[in-house]
Amino acid sequence: MEFAALIVAAGRGVRAGGERPKQFQMLGERSVLARTLAAFLDHPHCSAVLCVIGEADAQDYAHGVPTDPKLLPPVIGGDTRQASVRAGLEALAERSPRAVLIHDAARPFVTPAVIDRVLAAIGPSEAAFPALPLVDALWHAEDGQVAGARDRAGLWRAQTPQGFLFEDILGLHRAAETGAPDDVTLAHAAGHKVSVVMGDGNNFKITLPGDFDRARALEADLDVRTGTGYDVHAFGPGKAVILCGVEVPHDRALRGHSDADVAMHAITDALFGALAEGDIGRWFPPSEPEWKGAASEIFLRKAVERVAERGYRIANIDCTVICEEPKIGPHADAMRAEIARITGLGIDRISIKATTTERLGFTGRAEGIAADAAATLVSP
Ligand code: MG
Repeated sequence: MEFAALIVAAGRGVRAGGERPKQFQMLGERSVLARTLAAFLDHPHCSAVLCVIGEADAQDYAHGVPTDPKLLPPVIGGDTRQASVRAGLEALAERSPRAVLIHDAARPFVTPAVIDRVLAAIGPSEAAFPALPLVDALWHAEDGQVAGARDRAGLWRAQTPQGFLFEDILGLHRAAETGAPDDVTLAHAAGHKVSVVMGDGNNFKITLPGDFDRARALEADLDVRTGTGYDVHAFGPGKAVILCGVEVPHDRALRGHSDADVAMHAITDALFGALAEGDIGRWFPPSEPEWKGAASEIFLRKAVERVAERGYRIANIDCTVICEEPKIGPHADAMRAEIARITGLGIDRISIKATTTERLGFTGRAEGIAADAAATLVSP
């Protein structure tokens, strides 16, 4: 079923700590809200997403929100949650979607499966929301002393999105008094059939400071990037080649604009690639004489700096040097140590290996050296 999503982000969220409302705080590279919006924008049946924000939040909202034609301009909320939802519904009214899903901005880990379950239940019922059955024992206590047990059978912990037929919930809000309770309560009170569908443990609401630790760990699990790099340099006259910053004696040298460290170039390009920030040539144009003969360490340091600035860390680097000669094996550990020094990684996260091409091709004819590298980044 086609639906519009209404994201309620007008709350102040003071219990979660921090200087800004929790929905505008960062989870890795993007805000809590930006992640929540993306969860709906990416859903194939979502036709529009509209966010209700506080009056003071326009600037925070604009920062890092995804560009997507389905994302409508935000609407300013009211003094209560009900007033905010009403404002959002009114703004969606002219589009008259068949269904609307109303969701807390502070639940960024809502999954497509949860959204699908809510959608599937609207139609057979007039409204639906996800929830988790209570599994812990329930006790009533007074002054720290047990006063009696409570039966948990049939009790559910509510999550969002709460889903409704659009015309139904708009009508209920228009008829409701200011400060009416939440949308499910409105629908239930009006005699509408409301279904409970299974929620998801990760679809929790960021409420207390500890919730941010959980959210960031979850985001880190999800945000992994991989990049690859490849480079070739031809042999020219000389007495040594430089590979991963290590001088390896040879009867020729590698030619290039910089020190021609083909292996370090491949590693650097793998890091820029993982960030989708181009390659060495974009950051250090060969047309600029400044980089002539430069130690390639400058390039790698720049890539490492960008990784940190973007909020990632390097999980590992793997590089293969492809040549018939010189022999790489005896120098591989020194190369690993040099890459470890420059990147600040443990040496166990850096692999340097070598292969020949069985005397085939330009590397087989010993006309030059090629290098292949892969790097994985994780956030934070
Ligand atoms: Mg190069």
